[in-house]
Amino acid sequence: MSTSLDLCAPLAVLGADVQVPLVSGEKVGYAALDYAASSPALQRVWDEVAAYAPYYGSVHRGAGYLSQLSTDLFEQSRRTVADFLDLREGDQVVFTRATTDSLNLLAGALPAGTRVFAFETEHHASLLPWRQAGLPVSYLPSPRSPEEAVAALAEALAAQPSQEEGAGGHRLFCVTGASNVTGELWPVAELTRVAHQHGVRVVLDAAQLAPHHRVSVRELDVDWVAFSGHKLYAPFGAGVLAGRGDWLDAAEPYLAGGGASRTVAREVDGSVAVEWHQGPARHEAGSPNVIGAYAIAAACRALTEAGFEALQAREQYLIGRLTAGLAEIPEVRVLSLFGPQAARVGVLSFVVQGWNSSHFSAALSAEYGIGVRDGLFCAHPLVRTLVGGEEVTPSQCGAPEPSLPGERSLNAIRVSFGAG
Ligand code: PLP
Repeated sequence: MSTSLDLCAPLAVLGADVQVPLVSGEKVGYAALDYAASSPALQRVWDEVAAYAPYYGSVHRGAGYLSQLSTDLFEQSRRTVADFLDLREGDQVVFTRATTDSLNLLAGALPAGTRVFAFETEHHASLLPWRQAGLPVSYLPSPRSPEEAVAALAEALAAQPSQEEGAGGHRLFCVTGASNVTGELWPVAELTRVAHQHGVRVVLDAAQLAPHHRVSVRELDVDWVAFSGHKLYAPFGAGVLAGRGDWLDAAEPYLAGGGASRTVAREVDGSVAVEWHQGPARHEAGSPNVIGAYAIAAACRALTEAGFEALQAREQYLIGRLTAGLAEIPEVRVLSLFGPQAARVGVLSFVVQGWNSSHFSAALSAEYGIGVRDGLFCAHPLVRTLVGGEEVTPSQCGAPEPSLPGERSLNAIRVSFGAG
């Protein structure tokens, strides 16, 4: 099955015609339905990267032609991402490894003692970095509607005003734009309005939103946004943290090393004095992943040219077919936090009564060539709430130990796709 679409010609997907063997020995076209984990690269992105790859050189480090070219393309990619995200004057684009890296970078850059608020429904990448950075965190219980989420945030922020916090009384709210489990859209603009009314800054985890919806930082008014290239139809390990520069410039560099340091001098007492760069370079120590950044920029251009309206129209049609088809199978229960009418991107999880989700997913692959994801999707509290039950023994980020078909399983099956 190919999900490519004439209307979105720039979005032809690399490897759309890959043939995979079934357990029967037959070979069939692979149905890639795990875009939420990693979307296949667009053919166009791949072509652009391939055209540039023979010429790559070290960024910001050389007088030679290839180094100059790479520096130019790296900085141009930054500007493309800034346009894609509709950033404000003065906002920064920092290239990272992925969303997880971006949010860990931000967690380390927050002023000491910043209290972080997050719903327990978040992906672990937006749930855990704050805790890991030793910051106080308030986890809010799962809301059952977008309105309930807004009301719950307002209540939590009013209950813990900034005066209670130490050093500066800063607060941050972290929210996902679209759930990686249910695909449901979160009311980002409303939540941000409430947060800002309380003087609380907002970071948007757009890992699942950016591939499906236009993300305008200016319109949503969020302070930062994070996303991953490999979920945005770009290959390679690159991601983005974009937004306000003040706290980033005031923070210690994410990594210490070349590129982040403006001057390093040996003092008379034998110590070393360092002056760090201001701006994105401060948090991009080491030789930057120029091909990754270039690939993200190529994907941003392709999505912008295809137009999110056209992409959404196609995607909503596919979601409609999927939900209608699943509704006809009595054993299937689609997981939803906000109810059947909730708007979602092309991500949907379900459980099948009497089936272990891991076995079910394995059978889809072995018997039909359909690649889905099973497990807890790095959102254990949310999946537990939706599937039910407390006992779960996840082997790692994903699936609990497989059990026999028919046994009760606490993980779920996820189908995800895009219009590309
Ligand atoms: N946030 C959400 C909502 C996600 O779905 C994911 C990945 O699945 C992440 C963050 C982490 O992204 P990455 O693994 O690219 O760092």
